[in-house]
Amino acid sequence: MLRALPLLLLALLPACGRTTQEAAPVATTTPIVSPAPPLVVRYRVEDRSTGTPGFARTVQEVLTDTRGWQRAGFALVRDDAAPYLVVLAEAAEVDTLCLPYDTVGTYSCQNGPVVALNADRWRTATPQWTGDLATYHQMLVNHEVGHLLGQHHPASGRAGESQCPVPGRPALVMSQQSTELDGLPAEPLAAARGGLPGG
Ligand SMILES: [Zn+2]
Repeated sequence: MLRALPLLLLALLPACGRTTQEAAPVATTTPIVSPAPPLVVRYRVEDRSTGTPGFARTVQEVLTDTRGWQRAGFALVRDDAAPYLVVLAEAAEVDTLCLPYDTVGTYSCQNGPVVALNADRWRTATPQWTGDLATYHQMLVNHEVGHLLGQHHPASGRAGESQCPVPGRPALVMSQQSTELDGLPAEPLAAARGGLPGG
């Protein structure tokens, strides 16, 4: 009991132990600060592609990586009954899922509650990609799910933002890294900058 008392209180207790009465607890005005709870976003995963094993597991690993969107206050929870869908599909189906956006048989998209990832890109990344395939998967999932979370590309009309804010440093995960790396190192994680959008 005595061991659990704060140091200040210990200093107020008699040093010689002549009393069995403990001092009254010292009132404190220090507020108890608890961090804001994470915003829980539930999603389900479907693999409608051919020949791409391990997709669901990879998506889950990326979205539970503590270096990812968790850093921005999101908790992404896989749930087969969730309204949001992360789906890997062949190009023709992605084009359909992404309408009215034109993904031209090549790109991935977020369209309403659906994140549709192009299976060709999943299998081979892009010629512009400077990292390995696993890192590309991290970037692609974090980027498109970032749109689902309301994030935008930098340099999309807001002053002071650019695709590559620091020359030579990794591009931001919400930069259009699939097509516009311009030789910069890739950044696959959702490194949350101060106030997100664009981060
Ligand atoms: Zn994008």
